[in-house]
Amino acid sequence: MTVDSISIKNPAKILSVHDMQTSVTPNGIKYLTLRIKSSKTCPSGFTCTIGCSGTHVCAYCSVMYYMHTRQQRNMYITNPALFVTSSGHILTHELFVSRTRSLLTGLGYDPKEYSGHSYRVGCASTAGANQFKDWEIQLLGGWRSDTFKRYIRQTQIHAVSFAARLAIKGRMPGS
Ligand SMILES: [Zn+2]
Repeated sequence: MTVDSISIKNPAKILSVHDMQTSVTPNGIKYLTLRIKSSKTCPSGFTCTIGCSGTHVCAYCSVMYYMHTRQQRNMYITNPALFVTSSGHILTHELFVSRTRSLLTGLGYDPKEYSGHSYRVGCASTAGANQFKDWEIQLLGGWRSDTFKRYIRQTQIHAVSFAARLAIKGRMPGS
């Protein structure tokens, strides 16, 4: 949900604070919706829904914390873009990838193995490993086609399960 440097010249394409809304489901789950104006996989845009996971790793709560911090610093006045740096500049794709790689280096990982696209690949892979249905993964990532399937990395544990699953599916009736 970053923007590339070229998009900064077209403010209409930048995700702004006005593209986000928060709400609560009838059964009490807090969530937010983001109106993505355009993306590589969906040029006409789509709506992204992020619910509170109720865990310590929660995108909804992270965004709420970020918005609270942002409000305290009065950054709405200086920049209407949704994601800005602590100095008030728009968070570009290049800056996001650069910061990610710095953090990975600090943690001992090889930063060359990661790009901005790694987040989408990682999300699709994790969803696939957790038995999300294809249509759920498509909705999660805003994919219009089934191209996401080629991004799902097969884990060795998942591959090990193939034989047993095939044996069950392939068992002849009455055997
Ligand atoms: Zn949460």
